[in-house]
Amino acid sequence: MVRFPKPSTPRLLYTLYNSPYRTTPSASPNASLLLGTSHLRNYSAGNLARAKEEKEPWWKESMEKLRNIGISAHIDSGKTTLTERVLYYTGKIHEIHEVRGKDGVGAKMDSMDLEREKGITIQSAATYCTWNGYQINIIDTPGHVDFTIEVERALRVLDGAILVLCSVGGVQSQSITVDRQMRRYEVPRLAFINKLDRMGADPWKVLNQARSKLRHHSAAMQVPIGLEEDFKGLVDLVQLKAYYFHGSSGEKVVTEELPANMEALVTEKRRELIEVVSEVDDKLAEAFLNDEPISSTDLEEAVRRATVAKKFVPVFMGSAFKNKGVQPLLNGVLSYLPCPSEVSNYALDQTKNEEKVTLTGTPDGPLVALAFKLEEGRFGQLTYLRIYEGVIRKGDFIINVNTGKKIKVPRLVRMHSDEMEDIQEAHAGQIVAVFGVDCASGDTFTDGSVRYTMTSMNVPEPVMSLAIQPVSKDSGGQFSKALNRFQREDPTFRVGLDPESGQTIISGMGELHLDIYVERIRREYKVDANVGKPRVNFRETVTQRAEFDYLHKKQTGGQGQYGRVCGYVEPLPPGSPVKFEFENMIVGQAIPSNFIPAIEKGFKEAANSGSLIGHPVENIRVVITDGASHAVDSSELAFKLAAIYAFRKCYEAARPVILEPVMLVELKVPIEFQGTVAGDINKRKGVIVGNDQDGDDSVITAHVPLNNMFGYSTALRSMTQGKGEFTMEYKEHLPVSHDVQMQLVNSYKGSKVAE
Ligand code: GDP
Repeated sequence: MVRFPKPSTPRLLYTLYNSPYRTTPSASPNASLLLGTSHLRNYSAGNLARAKEEKEPWWKESMEKLRNIGISAHIDSGKTTLTERVLYYTGKIHEIHEVRGKDGVGAKMDSMDLEREKGITIQSAATYCTWNGYQINIIDTPGHVDFTIEVERALRVLDGAILVLCSVGGVQSQSITVDRQMRRYEVPRLAFINKLDRMGADPWKVLNQARSKLRHHSAAMQVPIGLEEDFKGLVDLVQLKAYYFHGSSGEKVVTEELPANMEALVTEKRRELIEVVSEVDDKLAEAFLNDEPISSTDLEEAVRRATVAKKFVPVFMGSAFKNKGVQPLLNGVLSYLPCPSEVSNYALDQTKNEEKVTLTGTPDGPLVALAFKLEEGRFGQLTYLRIYEGVIRKGDFIINVNTGKKIKVPRLVRMHSDEMEDIQEAHAGQIVAVFGVDCASGDTFTDGSVRYTMTSMNVPEPVMSLAIQPVSKDSGGQFSKALNRFQREDPTFRVGLDPESGQTIISGMGELHLDIYVERIRREYKVDANVGKPRVNFRETVTQRAEFDYLHKKQTGGQGQYGRVCGYVEPLPPGSPVKFEFENMIVGQAIPSNFIPAIEKGFKEAANSGSLIGHPVENIRVVITDGASHAVDSSELAFKLAAIYAFRKCYEAARPVILEPVMLVELKVPIEFQGTVAGDINKRKGVIVGNDQDGDDSVITAHVPLNNMFGYSTALRSMTQGKGEFTMEYKEHLPVSHDVQMQLVNSYKGSKVAE
């Protein structure tokens, strides 16, 4: 059983002069929770043989007493308020600051100004705290679906999560989205029904909504004592005790016997809990069916097995704002959410074509760690790492598998929002941060003995772009600093130059994705920028072979130019790993070999901008078979120009087509709107590929051209009275229809003429 610890004494924090961070000495009272030095001695000082004889490995206890969790919620359900309480009760902060509070300090986890102002969380941050001798790392998860890579990375790092629901608002669309993401990444979770103090609070209604809308197999772990203004405390259905929260901030948990008038309700709800868990846990089912007495320990163990197996969602309750119910929820995290070794993780073996390998998850294996978030601090780049296998120590040499670079770990810290604590080492399961390590988000580090990566090295191509320019020329420095940082943090965000207009072009995975970066440039770097209209990243390709024979000749006066190239272009076979291929099949010396690279360069340059609409030409093979040169007038430039003109000339004959990004769109709408929504998808030239029913909702899967999805969230909202939701991800590039091609080509020609 987990007991309530006394509120821990806050530790002294030393302020570093001129630093955004503060440090504590590494000999903190919690240092033993990381790798204690005694463990290390045991591990590294030749005592391995003896350690092997011992039944329990040296890391077993510290692994079991570790939880990596996320807190996810619909906006405004109280996630920030809850996190603030968690940090307070665990002694990480000494005062509670309300979200958008009058004191102007803001809640701890919202360290970005933008978040503070809007009271929302965009970026993931990690913080740790200790509760009852357990170490809890809280990873702040970004909520929006457009952040595919960032969300994916944050969810990978979690072993469990708390889903916060509002007892008045119930299960809302965003709760459905985050829950779906957690299901996709197989994250076991607890639900916390918050705001029991509010007028109209009805936890039982919300519990039923979670069952019907989220398909949770769930039951209450607690019964509230009073509701709304009279909300006083909670009855724990496992321990059969009543908890009250005293003290100015609810820090004193007082345990009492059940209120006499609640016995009938408590008996009914405990029976319901046992029944629901029995449906997914054979051991408990056996005792239940045989009418054997079920002890608190039996029930607690059964709930843990079922939750870790993702077959059950225990439901906790309280009011974060009124400081009630947070400590029992924390106990629930320890009792029911898995420790890192209970979760199986896999890596991709880069020596075996990204074959999946299951990691042991223990400190005994070779080091495998994922950089899941970067932050730019005044001391340089801070990189958050989740260690999946092995041990990392300050001073170790580690290899970045994505870049092949070898790096020394100069400094290892544990983070608490924007304060930090130096540590010497950490092991599998833990989350730490390193300083001064040059890498990008999503990179994997190992000790060099394996070439594993935690995420695929194949990053999807951005599907949408827009031109962006700082309003004032003076802010150019800050502007490029911002773009550099975002590129490192998010591989799906790219920055390029439009070769014709010289404008900076940013590309990403959708409208909102780009919007948020524009907003962050403005707020975090104080740079106002003019932005162009978002454009879909079309591509061009050829559909048949076409020959070229081009002579570039200028021999009037001065140094002449002479170069002739013959050959053909053709489509690459489907599934080809490269987008452009160049082959020299000239037999003999028709063109001296030192000019061949210039020819290849010319073709590549020409393929950067197809003549249909000026977008890159992909999936094309260029073969040169013959040519001619002149002893004096041939030059690299002459051959490069010959190649560019040859390409342009034969392009038309190769029957080029325009390719557009097609998105996989998943819609969930109440059945009564199904017809309207499906009709609209057809109008957008989408193809509906699936239509299922989920409770009262219709789930539509469709492939829709991205070009027809501008402003879709607003359209869907008005079609479904705000009740529909959708997710969208890139599927593939496909040829556009003939009439769309004509339109695109004509408007491109029009814009050229206008210039
Ligand atoms: P988030 O958007 O999920 O992070 O939610 P916040 O923590 O910012 O809370 C949104 C609003 O709800 C704030 O005004 C909070 O003060 C308020 N709030 C949070 N928890 C509770 C609660 O338990 N009861 C009441 N009455 N209000 C709460």
